[in-house]
Amino acid sequence: MLVIMSTDSTDRQIQRVKDRIGEMGYSSHAVSWHDHYAIGVTGNKGKEDRIYLDGLPGVLKVVTLSKPYKLASREIQPENSVYKIGSATFGDGNVVMIAGPCAVESKEQTLRITEQVAQRGAQMLRGGAYKPRTSPYAFQGLGEPGLEILAKASEKNGLPVVSEVVDPGTASLVAQYTAMLQIGTRNMQNFILLQEVGRTGKPVLLKRGMSATLEETLMSAEYLMSNGAREVVICERGVRTFASHARNTLDISIIPALKKISHLPIIVDPSHSSGHRYSVIPHSLAGIGAGADGLIVDVHDRPDEALCDGPQALSPDQFSELMEVSGKVCAALGKTIGSKTA
Ligand code: PEP
Ligand code: MN
Repeated sequence: MLVIMSTDSTDRQIQRVKDRIGEMGYSSHAVSWHDHYAIGVTGNKGKEDRIYLDGLPGVLKVVTLSKPYKLASREIQPENSVYKIGSATFGDGNVVMIAGPCAVESKEQTLRITEQVAQRGAQMLRGGAYKPRTSPYAFQGLGEPGLEILAKASEKNGLPVVSEVVDPGTASLVAQYTAMLQIGTRNMQNFILLQEVGRTGKPVLLKRGMSATLEETLMSAEYLMSNGAREVVICERGVRTFASHARNTLDISIIPALKKISHLPIIVDPSHSSGHRYSVIPHSLAGIGAGADGLIVDVHDRPDEALCDGPQALSPDQFSELMEVSGKVCAALGKTIGSKTA
């Protein structure tokens, strides 16, 4: 349900509505509905409950929401969500550039790459300290020492960090070191993990499961938001199809479809979709053309030595090229990409 307050409702009337929602055993979420203050109600199971709210002073109307996802829906918030994380703004119509190594391998490697992407216009740093790997024998990440390295690289170069959380037990630890928590494709429906990450209250980058529908993706966003995350960004990173010419199939069709029904920003990961560096720039441009709010790109200055996903990493020079051509596409669309240093 959504309780829309009249424009002249008082703070006391709003509090009374929230108290009533609490007494009914439900949760309140403050949202804005056009120019009205509104309260999203979650946890209710039937239509009949609205009679306890309909008649309260200050209430303009109570609307039953039709979608199973509530907080992520445009029904509850018609305007795009806009979040600011450092110098990056998601959802304002421009394109945020997130770049960095797939994995934190060492202090030197991370500091080198961070400096190079920062100089070339990245606004946020990516890098995994905990890596979900298909093989148990592959490099699993440095763990907490990796987070310390990321925090140092962030401080030195002024780039906020996004890094993956792979288990509920380390959600608050990763939150201490980073500006944004990442949920990987393999964990999109790990609901205990989503709840724990939501509870940190941190911004979250939610990667679409490699076989998840749009609705399932928004239900996972709902797990995060109903547990306390206020800033959720969806990431399209390619899905599994019959095609074997790319690591995954970049599904740019999800971008306009998501924007139609949700107010959440959506970015594209052209590195994990393509799997090959030669197609990272084309995937990036397709994402921008389809309306993505940002890109998250693997960059490595010694890709042959990379411990994770070297073949899809752009060199720093190729990252410069990406910034340049993306800037042109953005300009044609009346947008900008990355920071002013680009
Ligand atoms: C990553 O971004 O490092 C990653 C593991 O991506 P995904 O979860 O999309 O495979
Ligand atoms: Mn990777």
